[in-house]
Amino acid sequence: MIIDCHGHYTTAPKQLEEWRKRQIAELENPRHAPSKGSLGITDDEIRASLEGAQLKLQRERGTDLTIFSPRAMGMSHHIGNETTSRHWSEHCNEMIHRVCALYPENFVGVCQLPQSPGVPPKNCIPELERCVKEFAFIGCNLNPDPSGGYWKEPPLTDKWWYPLYEKMVELEVPAMVHVSASCNPCFHGTGAHYINGDTTAFMQFITADLFKDFPTLKFIIPHGGGAVPYHWGRYRGLAQDMKRPPLKELLMSNVFFDTCVYHQPGIDLLLKVIPADNILCASEMVGAVKGVDPETGFNYDDTKRYIDRIDWVSRADKEKIFHGNVDKVYPRFAKRTKR
Ligand SMILES: [Zn+2]
Repeated sequence: MIIDCHGHYTTAPKQLEEWRKRQIAELENPRHAPSKGSLGITDDEIRASLEGAQLKLQRERGTDLTIFSPRAMGMSHHIGNETTSRHWSEHCNEMIHRVCALYPENFVGVCQLPQSPGVPPKNCIPELERCVKEFAFIGCNLNPDPSGGYWKEPPLTDKWWYPLYEKMVELEVPAMVHVSASCNPCFHGTGAHYINGDTTAFMQFITADLFKDFPTLKFIIPHGGGAVPYHWGRYRGLAQDMKRPPLKELLMSNVFFDTCVYHQPGIDLLLKVIPADNILCASEMVGAVKGVDPETGFNYDDTKRYIDRIDWVSRADKEKIFHGNVDKVYPRFAKRTKR
């Protein structure tokens, strides 16, 4: 079984985006009382949105199941206030739930959290619980920077985040550390802000004893871990200079990397540097990078191909990357499979 641990519903029916546009427009009207309302999306529209996109690509590329979450750029926690984010997140998560109910063999859900700049992360707990307990979601996407590129929140190791971590541990769900849109013109969203976010989170984890406080807490750092594998020596050296334990001891029971790296040498490096026990297969399809690589004739985000082409990684290690590690990182997925 081949699992893609990182897919977003980038192709949702247009009513979702239209609802969001209306919600944002209404923020201009101070007398308007915000309400969640409804989307008016049919099951057939959901099927149509997936059949020619994620499902087609799963079939073509030979992945069996995608761990699926709302569009990451769309989370845009910086817009409006806590209520804005709560209504929007609820709609986005309900869409994922409907996708998973229609295609239980192909998708399993991960939720967007209703974060908002300056608002304690513990306020996200009701939505996390709803998604895990009512919708059988197996994880969440945690935005380390709800300000959208201005980094106003404390680092992920700060006690500010602890109530949410306590709930994640209790529910046995990991978080993918995933920023959203950048409203800082210096940072391109997917090209700079995403990779910065990944790298920043890893460095934050090095500096503190978060995993002493939460030995079973797990994070996935997407996009191949940002700059981390390429600069592994720098991070090992920094940890050493800071009198921190070796990275293996400090982080590798809790921090995992996905394979959303869009060229062969990048995947080669990732698999050489990071232990197979800490890597999960992922593509982030559809949409982070949409095109075909003229050098290979294949889509940049067809990441399974890159892993398949590596002959110096053992079959057992590839099985961990394609499937085995998912059971370890997402205990609720393992229980679901057993059932
Ligand atoms: Zn993503």
